[in-house]
Amino acid sequence: MQIKRGISYLSNQKVRDTVEIYLNGFSTSLPEAVQLKALRKIKGLEKVKMFRAGYAIEYDYFPPTQLKHTLETKLVNNLFFCGQINGTTGYEEAAAQGLMAGINAHQNTHGKEEFILSRSDAYIGVLIDDLITKGTEEPYRMFTSRAEYRLLLRQDNADIRLTKKGYKLGLAKFDRIEQLEKKEIETAALIKFLKTQSIDPKDINPVLEKLGSAVLKQKVKIKAVLSRPHITLEDLLVCKELKTYLADKKCSTEAIEQAEIEIKYGGYLNKEKESVEKSLRLENIKISKDFVFDKLHSISTEGREKLSFIQPETIGQASRISGVSPSDINVLLVYLGR
Ligand SMILES: Cc1cc2nc3c(=O)[nH]c(=O)nc-3n(C[C@H](O)[C@H](O)[C@H](O)COP(=O)(O)OP(=O)(O)OC[C@H]3O[C@@H](n4cnc5c(N)ncnc54)[C@H](O)[C@@H]3O)c2cc1C
Repeated sequence: MQIKRGISYLSNQKVRDTVEIYLNGFSTSLPEAVQLKALRKIKGLEKVKMFRAGYAIEYDYFPPTQLKHTLETKLVNNLFFCGQINGTTGYEEAAAQGLMAGINAHQNTHGKEEFILSRSDAYIGVLIDDLITKGTEEPYRMFTSRAEYRLLLRQDNADIRLTKKGYKLGLAKFDRIEQLEKKEIETAALIKFLKTQSIDPKDINPVLEKLGSAVLKQKVKIKAVLSRPHITLEDLLVCKELKTYLADKKCSTEAIEQAEIEIKYGGYLNKEKESVEKSLRLENIKISKDFVFDKLHSISTEGREKLSFIQPETIGQASRISGVSPSDINVLLVYLGR
């Protein structure tokens, strides 16, 4: 029996007549005898043998609620914290914070504006906002499930979300911007083509029949067929006009992928973008650094305590603090004249 730390799934494999089981969410800081006893309490593992006990690493950290979004400490100016010292665990978490603290330390010493990624810009934004707003009792890992805008935070659009920001900071060269603009122009043109070009039933119906999708009775725009589940752009290459367009324009695979995603999931993506817009309204209402929350007696005692402790920089951040209710936020909004 082996317990492997950080594995996020339960799997088993046969190795020389021994089944190795990896467990997630099992406390590995307990004494060996207790670990074995606890394992045997799990249904199916009553007779399990343990040939190596799990382990845990103990470390001290500073509560990350003492940090600003830039990762500068609130108590000591010009001191930035990143990585395990902030209560996180993991290589990526440490690297992401190191990058952000490094950028902001540079910006700070050069009198430039702070660099903050929002929760809808990047997972880094979620990680830092969670840490400084909610704090952490357990070593924090950046699970995708922690992000509310997961549909927007995709690998395929990382360049669209972040390259311009990187260029502005001097971290990406101009050729990256050129590549991005080329992709954006190609994508927009391809989407326009898919929305305006029709597809002939006699070309596409054999494909639709094979894929178990309803056949067409008359010509429809390519977009309408592409929006159907399980139909990919590749399936539609039987449409001569589409095939010719892609060849003539030498469309890159990135642009094709982007156009396909926008058409297939556009409805869901737009809904999420609207929700980002809504939350940005609160995100843009700043609260001054020295705001005294204690004077707001209409806010619940718990809300006042949490707000005074965290000292949120915006109403958006205040609304994410546990213990601060929507009615507390309304009082705050009224007080700030909104
Ligand atoms: C056994 C083990 C296995 C792990 N496995 C994984 C894994 O599989 N995947 C994963 O994502 N994460 C894993 N982690 C977690 C990951 O290694 C850490 O979360 C990450 O390395 C933390 O990076 P950091 O830069 O914050 O801290 P560290 O990497 O600890 O860096 C801190 C540095 O500061 C130096 N330092 C300390 N005090 C001083 C001082 N006074 N003056 C100057 N320098 C000082 C230290 O020497 C060290 O080099 C593992 C950790 C351990 C211990």
